[in-house]
Amino acid sequence: MSDKQDFDLIIIGAGSGGVRLARMSAAKGARVAVVESRYLGGTCVNVGCVPKKLFVYGSHAGEDIEDAAGYGWSVPHDQVTFDWTRLVANKNAEIERLNGIYGRMLENAGVTVIEGTASLADANTVVVGERTFTSKHITIATGSWPVVPEVPGKECVLTSNEMFYLPQLPKQAVVWGGGYIAVEFAGILAGLGVDTTLLYRGELFLRGFDDDVREFTAAEMRKKGINLRFGVNIESIETDNAHYAVNLTDGSRLNTGLVMAATGRRALVDGLGLEELGVQLSASGHVVVDDYFQTAVPSITALGDVIGTPQLTPVALAQGMVLSRRLFGDGKGEMDYSSIPTAVFCQPNIGTVGLTEAEAREAGHKLRIYRSEFKPMKHTLSGRDERALMKLVVDDESDRVLGAHMVGPDAGEITQGIAVAIKAGATKAQFDSTIGIHPTSAEEFVTMRDPVA
Ligand code: NDP
Repeated sequence: MSDKQDFDLIIIGAGSGGVRLARMSAAKGARVAVVESRYLGGTCVNVGCVPKKLFVYGSHAGEDIEDAAGYGWSVPHDQVTFDWTRLVANKNAEIERLNGIYGRMLENAGVTVIEGTASLADANTVVVGERTFTSKHITIATGSWPVVPEVPGKECVLTSNEMFYLPQLPKQAVVWGGGYIAVEFAGILAGLGVDTTLLYRGELFLRGFDDDVREFTAAEMRKKGINLRFGVNIESIETDNAHYAVNLTDGSRLNTGLVMAATGRRALVDGLGLEELGVQLSASGHVVVDDYFQTAVPSITALGDVIGTPQLTPVALAQGMVLSRRLFGDGKGEMDYSSIPTAVFCQPNIGTVGLTEAEAREAGHKLRIYRSEFKPMKHTLSGRDERALMKLVVDDESDRVLGAHMVGPDAGEITQGIAVAIKAGATKAQFDSTIGIHPTSAEEFVTMRDPVA
């Protein structure tokens, strides 16, 4: 490796993908630096997956307390209290702990961490404030940032970034959008007692998920008191900074205590100077790369949310490992984006892997569909009116399971194992010959005998 440059690799962005690439590359003997302007760990650790999951636990604890009554516990409703500021403070302490772990991990790996905002002076030079660093390779791993649609009053709209540090919970909230973040935050807020309305512009939220999952989730969320309003969008918002009046496209008006937009995320490339160097950006603003994360400029690569592949931490981690092997290892391995399992931590959770029924039909498969809906055992005594859904999409000819979908407690945990089976090409007969674990909800995936379609 060249000694003429300060580093072999400078990574801009210390999020999930950047940190994984840094550690893997340093372990292979490369001289690596990471430039970070905000926080170690990126969106996932600071304002994404981790604090979100902690908030989901916090929100769901209220139901757990109520459910305990059916198991003999005495839980006088008027003695149960919730302190939002304590949840946020405890969450913040955990995030700080994780930031420290990330810092130590990078330090122990021999990676130089440079604090500040980076821009590119040329294809091998990174400028951070007054300092200039040269490197043989540069990787853009700057991630993504929430987008708020252009409507009058948009400046008073919060995003997930601010929600994680909200000073106090309002009595009412409007969540705008119908994707992962919207349904997760609607669940968090409603579980904490906020009168929550979710507004989605389409006919049914969670576009891209299996239709049964979408309908089932909507029904379960409505049972929890969340006001789901579909086929409507926000036209404008007026506020006196305490109350918000939201004017909708159907002519109606909503008064609320907070408006949160969860309307997608854009690639974060501001100020890097990429286009000036010849790095192409797509129409959606993502950095254009080939299958090996290579941009149009030979020394510059990019990975993670910024390249527009699925915006998921495990995808960025896998990309970091592939790119590290390409730059400093045997060059082998490439990304396989098929059958990426994913969970949505709405309440109850969604877990999904493989094709939806609609996708499988579109691809020309003749299908057998297996579907089961049931009351999870826990709720026989808790009395809670919550149900679970499981669904398998099977290719009739080959018997291969093309997709598995679940709505219910621990769907994410359950789907991870199912994803291994689907990735390995398991057939329905192999699912059927697998002995169930009893009594669990998960066993339903190996006991669905009769197709419903
Ligand atoms: P998504 O892309 O998932 O959803 C965006 C939502 O906003 C969609 O419902 C979309 O509607 C709607 N929308 C977009 N533009 C407008 C507009 N102008 N007016 C009204 N509605 C609009 O984005 P999120 O922000 O929810 O999350 C970003 C990504 O982060 C996710 O896609 C996911 O990859 C990742 N993520 C993963 C999580 C997990 O793994 N559990 C958790 C949270 C985030 P339409 O469907 O009509 O386009």
